[in-house]
Amino acid sequence: MGTYKQLINGELVDATTGDWIEVENPYTQEIIGQAPKGNANDADKALQAAKDAQKAWAKRASADRAGILKQMAQVIRDNRIELADLLLSEQAKVAGLAQVEIDFTADYFDYYAGWANIYEGEVIQSRDPQEKMFLFQKPIGVIVGICPWNFPFFVMARKVAPSMLVGCTSVIKPSSTTPLTTLRFAELCKDIIPAGVVNFVTGGGSTLGDALVRHPLSDMVSLTGSVEAGVEIIKGSAEKIMKTSLELGGKAPAIVFPDADIDLAVEAVKNSRLIFSGQVCNCAERAYVHKDVYDEFLTKLKAAFEAADYGDPKTAGDYSSQVDKAQLEKISEMVERAKAAGAEVVTGGAPADKGTGYFYQPTILANAAQDSEIVQKEVFGPVLPVLAWDDYDQVIDDANGVEYGLTSSVFTKSLSTTLQALTDLNFGETYVNRHHFEDLQGWHAGWRKSGIGGADGKHGLFEYLQQQLAYIKF
Ligand code: NAD
Repeated sequence: MGTYKQLINGELVDATTGDWIEVENPYTQEIIGQAPKGNANDADKALQAAKDAQKAWAKRASADRAGILKQMAQVIRDNRIELADLLLSEQAKVAGLAQVEIDFTADYFDYYAGWANIYEGEVIQSRDPQEKMFLFQKPIGVIVGICPWNFPFFVMARKVAPSMLVGCTSVIKPSSTTPLTTLRFAELCKDIIPAGVVNFVTGGGSTLGDALVRHPLSDMVSLTGSVEAGVEIIKGSAEKIMKTSLELGGKAPAIVFPDADIDLAVEAVKNSRLIFSGQVCNCAERAYVHKDVYDEFLTKLKAAFEAADYGDPKTAGDYSSQVDKAQLEKISEMVERAKAAGAEVVTGGAPADKGTGYFYQPTILANAAQDSEIVQKEVFGPVLPVLAWDDYDQVIDDANGVEYGLTSSVFTKSLSTTLQALTDLNFGETYVNRHHFEDLQGWHAGWRKSGIGGADGKHGLFEYLQQQLAYIKF
């Protein structure tokens, strides 16, 4: 069993409590490591270190800061196999996807390093010919980055890379369910990251996390997590009038039009729903299929779900165990309530016995009502309600009619149908004729309860900047 440490002010340290979080491999159900169980004292030390480091960090040339990001990318590449193995172990992510997450994270640091000489302020025309107006872009300061368990390594980079590049310092808190890959990365970067510039602490959300949010030294919080945590973070930051960037849950609709390439749609929806056991915020959580192609779609999707390769994360092609027992129980209970409310099981519909691990069968539900829980609330498991539609306005209203607004998808061969749907759908991202997954140069941002602000690309960089306007009389 490995013992991991926090990184505070350039030093690898235990928690001030001396307590530990035990981390389970969900597939083998063995304890594979322990992480420090930090509390408000650790929050205080880490934020003080970030504050002390910020002024000097912001004064360095952006190209110089980018050099550190490039070294961090290289550390990931040099240790890509070890990091992917650890990620696989702490969350039962299948080997291929674990490796994709590690490699994509290295690309992410390089991508933001590339912004060093590109982001700009503005020159604004003054109404006075003897005056110049300059808009400067300045770092917000000390960032608190709070991460979820589902893509713990990549989401860490989403907070560290852009904020670091523009001159912010940060304190990063991984989820207690999956802290190990991030702490190992911290250890590998100990002599690369200048002391205090990025600090990594571990502990509970309502203890350490809340202390980071409410602490007077934090200037902004970036959370990726549940709507419930988002609400708590808004409350915790309210009295400080502090900027929050929130990437929260989703309930993505996939709308299949009668002219769609059905094989493509089936493949995309299946991959989107089953990847990482359905524990992905932007992936298809409900499908709306036109009645003319409903039977064909359902028959093919059923066959695809029944052929899904799930089991040991080292060998399975599609997915492995849910991340823990609580997630499995939550999914089971939601499906049981859906059945009681009238949904019909097309395939699956129960936990799966694979010897060890917390497995749920690939599940399709038909005839679920639009206003039922399974269609309205995030399941975060390999479960897909499929609904039939025949009226365009109604299906758009149904797709938009949930509290989340993160992603959506459309399957059609018609350009005008695509453009009409893009006009009418109210989601931060819409994928056309492809699976649900974003790219690093895009803009990943949720509407409604899916969040405030967002990440990736140019706009993700500007999340960590604030503006100063100078009026210069001459
Ligand atoms: P979670 O909300 O339980 O935990 C996320 C993080 O918030 C953890 O580090 C947790 O310790 C911390 N936290 C919880 N309460 C807190 C509080 N009061 N103060 C400060 N920190 C607190 O979420 P999770 O179960 O780890 O992740 C799954 C959720 O994340 C899903 O809803 C998923 O859709 C969402 N998610 C969204 C995106 C996105 O980009 N929009 C990406 C990944 C995951």
